[in-house]
Amino acid sequence: MKHFILSLFSILLLISCAENETKSKPKTNKEAFGIVIHGGAGTILKKNMSDSLETAYKNKLKEAITTGHAILENGGTSVDAITATINVMENSPLFNAGRGAVFANDETNQLDASIMEGHTLNAGAVAGVSNVKNPINLAVSVMNDSPHVMLAGKGAETFAAEQGVEQINPSYFYTERRFNSLQRVKEKEKTSNAKEIAFMDPFIKNNKFGTVGCVALDKNGNLAAGTSTGGMTNKKWDRIGDAPIIGAGTYANNATCAVSSTGWGEYFIRGMVAYDISAMMEYKGSTLQNAASEVIQEKLTKLGGTGGIIAIDKDGNVAMEFNTAGMYRAHMNAQGEIEIAIYK
Ligand code: ASP
Repeated sequence: MKHFILSLFSILLLISCAENETKSKPKTNKEAFGIVIHGGAGTILKKNMSDSLETAYKNKLKEAITTGHAILENGGTSVDAITATINVMENSPLFNAGRGAVFANDETNQLDASIMEGHTLNAGAVAGVSNVKNPINLAVSVMNDSPHVMLAGKGAETFAAEQGVEQINPSYFYTERRFNSLQRVKEKEKTSNAKEIAFMDPFIKNNKFGTVGCVALDKNGNLAAGTSTGGMTNKKWDRIGDAPIIGAGTYANNATCAVSSTGWGEYFIRGMVAYDISAMMEYKGSTLQNAASEVIQEKLTKLGGTGGIIAIDKDGNVAMEFNTAGMYRAHMNAQGEIEIAIYK
């Protein structure tokens, strides 16, 4: 009897230790890592796209997403995966970010970018930089190496020099395609009264943007989001869009999701689009997909805004929602399955 009571006691002790251990272990779902990218949303129609251009976009999206996926697969952080992925798109003239940035009215290129990590809610952003090769790298440096969240213009460039973030002659950002777009918009502006026309390129059927963004969930269960852009063609007066605004263009919170936006920035700022999706999950208990479609298809659309978002939640669920004809986008899950799409 004495033996029986002793054994029973030991078994109970073992069970309670095991329970405590599961409780104190951080909750990670190592199978759920994933990555999503966008390369801008807008009036992207199959009939206006040549086969070779479509292939070029798809190849670049594939190169970008596989770069980030490999980092996640090897146990890298979501911030590292996002930075490397966005660098691939920033270094390509195809997208309105880095090398392919659009021109402002004064014929300069003024680039914006931001990054946010979900487990610390730390964030970094830069606006209106003209000599930084990869603005997303500078945003990461603002997050990690400065006491601030957002730096702009000359000050941001001085910080880049101090931190050794690669700087480049502004002529690097000259591409004929973007320069010609600016000339066409300026021509159109002369004969139009519409306020909006200032941002539109009649040649590429209006409102075709091209910002890049990436959201990721790493093997430690940490979410992050990043966005990089040249803004909008013909922007004036040092206009800053949503891309470097935390909550509008970029948001990440481990409790909910990570979001990167693209589209008509003024509306994304007014709608606080990226944060709104997270808030709907947090306060209303919405799923990621429901929150994303309500914010884009109902709230943003009602406001008059156009564009889209990519998002991933803490369980690896993904949303790619837009109210335009197309959005360059791709998703890769933990199993390595890849999905690349352009049109609706
Ligand atoms: N959202 C960007 C901006 O307004 C433009 C874009 O997404 O293409 O600056």
